[in-house]
Amino acid sequence: MTGRRDRLVLFDIDETLIDSGRAGTRALNRAFLDLFGIKDAFKDIRMAGMTDIQIMKEGLRVHGLSSMDGEVDAIVRRYLRFLSEEIENPWRRVKPGVFEFLEALKEEGIPFGLLTGNLEEGARIKLRPFGLDAYFPAGAFGSDDEDRDRLLPIAIRRFSTLGVDVSPEDCIIIGDTPRDVRCAKAHGARCIAVATGPYSRDSLTEAGADLVVDTLNEREVCLDFIKSDHKVQQVRRTDRG
Ligand SMILES: [Mg+2]
Repeated sequence: MTGRRDRLVLFDIDETLIDSGRAGTRALNRAFLDLFGIKDAFKDIRMAGMTDIQIMKEGLRVHGLSSMDGEVDAIVRRYLRFLSEEIENPWRRVKPGVFEFLEALKEEGIPFGLLTGNLEEGARIKLRPFGLDAYFPAGAFGSDDEDRDRLLPIAIRRFSTLGVDVSPEDCIIIGDTPRDVRCAKAHGARCIAVATGPYSRDSLTEAGADLVVDTLNEREVCLDFIKSDHKVQQVRRTDRG
């Protein structure tokens, strides 16, 4: 034993690891067109950081439809089928520095996984074409709980069955939205926010991220932070009262 505390790094997917080329939105739109005859159902719905089930329920709500379990199940089935078609698009991209970052974690012997609002099957569909799926043996997904804030303990449990025993304070969540920051803070974990999505560096700092980087090309500063014992930054409140 080295005495160094174990770490567990957990990655968000959309706009953190990849840009799916809006495959998810198109798959959801097709599901709503197929089921309800509604075109462009998700045109005005901001979904960054939401879990898939929350997004589907929001779509139902916005269009005045009930979100009984049967409806959500029907959407999920169509969404996954359409997603595997829509991910085959020319706009999809891996975010800068992702492969190098994952290889560096492997080299350091730091375990890593997923913490994502995507349903697990959807996550695999999105990652597979990039060759990223194989990097992530485990994680917690939007299919485990529709509330992202409850996913960290699930990821920790999964990794403990793989021989990685960590507490929430040993975990670092990497994501691109204030919702990623919040799901870390809810358990005393740390968060690296990466400004490769819709949120600026300033807004991610304001949300309480412990470290904010432009891209995962900033590998050294991220690895130093992951290996360090930097305490969690207090969430700064700009509002009074
Ligand atoms: Mg994201």
